[in-house]
Amino acid sequence: MSAQVLTLEGQRQTLSDETVEEIRAIFRGQVLTSDDVGYDDVRVIQNAMLDRRPGLIIRCTGAADVVDAVRLAATRNLLVAVRGGGHSIAGTSTADDSLMIDLSAMRGVWVDPEQRRVRVAGGATWGDVDRETQLHGLAVPGGVVSTTGVAGLTLGGGIGWLHRKYGLACDALRAAEVVTASGDVVRCSASEREDLFWALRGGGGNFGVVVSFEFEAYPLGPVVWNGMVVYPIDAAAEVLPRWGDWTSTVPDEVTSRAMMWSLPASPALPPAVYNRDVFITAALYAGDPDEGQRACRALAEFGAPLADMSQALSYRTAQSSLDPFFPKGGLQSYWKSVYLDRLDEDATAFVVRVGQDRPHPTTLVHVPLLGGAMSRVGAAETAFGDRSARHMLSLDGNWLDPADDDANIRWVRGAYDEAVTLRAASGTYLNFGGDADLDDAARARAWGRNVERLRQVKRSYDPENRFRLNPNIPPAES
Ligand SMILES: Cc1cc2nc3c(=O)[nH]c(=O)nc-3n(C[C@H](O)[C@H](O)[C@H](O)COP(=O)(O)OP(=O)(O)OC[C@H]3O[C@@H](n4cnc5c(N)ncnc54)[C@H](O)[C@@H]3O)c2cc1C
Repeated sequence: MSAQVLTLEGQRQTLSDETVEEIRAIFRGQVLTSDDVGYDDVRVIQNAMLDRRPGLIIRCTGAADVVDAVRLAATRNLLVAVRGGGHSIAGTSTADDSLMIDLSAMRGVWVDPEQRRVRVAGGATWGDVDRETQLHGLAVPGGVVSTTGVAGLTLGGGIGWLHRKYGLACDALRAAEVVTASGDVVRCSASEREDLFWALRGGGGNFGVVVSFEFEAYPLGPVVWNGMVVYPIDAAAEVLPRWGDWTSTVPDEVTSRAMMWSLPASPALPPAVYNRDVFITAALYAGDPDEGQRACRALAEFGAPLADMSQALSYRTAQSSLDPFFPKGGLQSYWKSVYLDRLDEDATAFVVRVGQDRPHPTTLVHVPLLGGAMSRVGAAETAFGDRSARHMLSLDGNWLDPADDDANIRWVRGAYDEAVTLRAASGTYLNFGGDADLDDAARARAWGRNVERLRQVKRSYDPENRFRLNPNIPPAES
């Protein structure tokens, strides 16, 4: 039951049986070594490709456990991984022989319907948030898969189905409670520790462990219009430009995406779309469902669809409808993304080509429409950076067989390298990023001119770079 854990400098430290027992006595949550029952269940993250074995996992139950875990890491100089929902495609919430500070048991959500405020514990998922907020006809802008963690998604920005109406997830953040590298619990908001509050909104997990988030929630649901129209993939060259033109006419209530994918045989789907490559136009209307039906009618008018699955749905059902396609630990994944300032002829032709060339049916090439409320926040107002792009291209490489890792990673990298040469290409969105190690050029593509200010905040809150397993901003230039 002893444990091997790495120091920050990469040296192996053995924690003896007695030491592990002493550590256990400190915490209210479980402390797991690789010998313990449950260790293998707990260490699994979303991306099956990253099958890692932390040296010690502390399953925190509250802020006090997190403080003690951070202090333990500081006292023993240990490498720390912080896990929320475990959806990082780059796998930055786990590492071999690390001390994993696991917040996935901290999933409380408290709604104040009068104030439209929601407090969310640091390990909650978007499904947890939707479940509680929808009781009151409220929603916080989150992601499109309900099992994704609130923490990583918000700290990295957060696009979903509401970013055009209500902004990014990080834009709805009003305050956060953070355990810093020194083990202090601090609160930040627009009027307290403004520098930290600025950095949390897009700067990732660099500045401490967020034990609770406080969001503004907005009226929505319980029923929304969910547009979902499926075309044959051969129609992509015809449908994509029409969809692109349409997206420049829609109100903020409409958040839409085009997807090139393959749908399995499933009772939830019409047989016409089973097991074939398809081009999907999808949208969610953040408002009255009847108005939504009118506003999204065009989704089915860009060509000859195979199926129109558009319907009024409960917001929670819409929010979990993609979940079955992303089983936990069920896919090998490597993703990369670029912002597209416009869907011009070159960009359209490129998206069609890579979408039709996907190496595996589960690989998703998708183009979310951006703009609206998220684009009305200035590049320097939050760490997230520039929001002027109209669309994004995300190359979500997914496959099943570990033997195919190299070929699929090569395909995503090749497509990405070409995508960045498009005239319309601008920065990159790190939440859809598969690389754990960033260089200065990658940091500049993600955060633009905000990098220097992020470094300053990092120096204030984590000068030793204790929190380095994330899209990292080292305190000093490399
Ligand atoms: C199936 C799937 C669907 C997705 N859909 C969307 C989407 O619709 N929109 C979108 O924007 N992104 C989406 N993403 C990307 C997602 O936002 C990122 O992967 C995000 O990092 C996941 O957060 P997490 O808490 O689940 O992940 P984790 O892997 O637990 O953490 C991600 C990063 O955040 C850090 N972190 C986690 N918790 C904390 C905390 N409490 N305090 C400080 N740091 C912490 C971790 O150390 C790590 O660096 C999706 C990813 C997947 C796999």
